[in-house]
Amino acid sequence: MNCAQCGATLVAGAVFCSKCGARLALENTLPPTYLPAPTARPTSYLAIASVIFGVLCWVTLPVVGAIAAIITGHLAKAEIRKSNPPPAGGELATVGLILGYVHLALILVGAMIILALILLGISLHSALGAFL
Ligand SMILES: [Zn+2]
Repeated sequence: MNCAQCGATLVAGAVFCSKCGARLALENTLPPTYLPAPTARPTSYLAIASVIFGVLCWVTLPVVGAIAAIITGHLAKAEIRKSNPPPAGGELATVGLILGYVHLALILVGAMIILALILLGISLHSALGAFL
């Protein structure tokens, strides 16, 4: 395609002629369907970090990973609430928070069971000790 004003060869998608600067006919400009979709949003890095820590706490980083997942998950939620336009990743932050909270809850229950067994052992020992 050539410029109607000066005849210069045009780059596809150009809005102005690169030689004379004339505004080009609309046929040369890209149709709107070729533009990136406006719904494509960047994903919150905090939400990604939350999911990674949420998985890590079950694999290699017990407790510390869960706490990190919960902190970054809440920060991601706050970031998504406050930003305009909001970044994507709300679901990721939710998954990270669930993984972190469930892990901490299980650790807590496990610790209580161990503590109960220790206390039971101490009371059994002292009760039996009274008879020996
Ligand atoms: Zn031109």
